[in-house]
Amino acid sequence: MKAYVFTRYQHIEPMQYDTPAPPEEHALIKLTHCGISQMDVDTYLGREQKVVPPKVLGSEICGTVIKINSSDTLDKLEGVNVAVDPVISCGYCNECVAGNGNHCENIEVIGFTCDGGFAEYVIVPVKNIYPLPDIGDMECFTLAGALASAIHLDSTVRLKKGGQCVILGSRPFEILCGLVLLRRSGVSVIIIDDNLFRLNIAQSLGLTCIYLSGGTLNNMVDESYFENDKRVDTVIIGSSQIQNSLYLGIELVRPRGHILFTRNIRNDECLESVSILEKELVITGVNLYMKEDFKRSIDDIAIHADNYSSLITHRLPFAGISSGLQILKTVSECMQVILVN
Ligand SMILES: [Zn+2]
Repeated sequence: MKAYVFTRYQHIEPMQYDTPAPPEEHALIKLTHCGISQMDVDTYLGREQKVVPPKVLGSEICGTVIKINSSDTLDKLEGVNVAVDPVISCGYCNECVAGNGNHCENIEVIGFTCDGGFAEYVIVPVKNIYPLPDIGDMECFTLAGALASAIHLDSTVRLKKGGQCVILGSRPFEILCGLVLLRRSGVSVIIIDDNLFRLNIAQSLGLTCIYLSGGTLNNMVDESYFENDKRVDTVIIGSSQIQNSLYLGIELVRPRGHILFTRNIRNDECLESVSILEKELVITGVNLYMKEDFKRSIDDIAIHADNYSSLITHRLPFAGISSGLQILKTVSECMQVILVN
């Protein structure tokens, strides 16, 4: 089988391996689609250094079950199209027993700690495969992990009925967060970014968007969108690409409001502790999702497939993985890039 291996920063090399046989309670999946996530891009570029090369990246996996090795009578799944939940929690550590599988002490993530989907085949635990409903094209299910994370984020956001929330960033994950939050009754969600292409897609999905065109905070934001003295209850800080996004977020949030991080803070950024103290802000983060969130995400994508498909802007063959990573790095007119077999 062919695999596209991350060998060092900015290098993905095609390699030939024997197709592996699945160990006990595992399945061999033939890839049909694999999304390229922001984590893949950050790893490839060296911004994220947790992945130890050589490794096959790719966590947004859809494919067909070729072989199952299980004591259960799961043979009937052979030939079935599935999405793969990349998060493998052990089920027996203290956090897993407490119901916090996303904080598992022995967590593995397919495509990061073990080989993933930038390949012809991938081996995954049987418990991580989800048969897909027959809705025609499977490609939108590559967003299942990102949507599951958005569903988990929704469960942590402190936002009352009638509250206002700002999301800084308009990449697929931020848009999915916006769509999930918008389902709460009476809540308004505003996406702020400096990428007009992505904002247009967000707007077509029903989200209120503000184009950030540089300059100082005072002229960054059209104040007519904001109620409550131009302050919002919750700010979700997603994009690292928006200049001064931390500063903007702290400025926009009301006293005792909630700031939620979905990414690491870069070394050249700093949290403004004076404002945090004066405003008595609540600051939290989110990490991955719970197992049931992934199942909910599959069900949700099956119902709203057209919406989710509109986030996919580029479809490339698996051999085009390096181009896909470069597109995500350099092309502004780009949202979700997937590999198609
Ligand atoms: Zn565990």
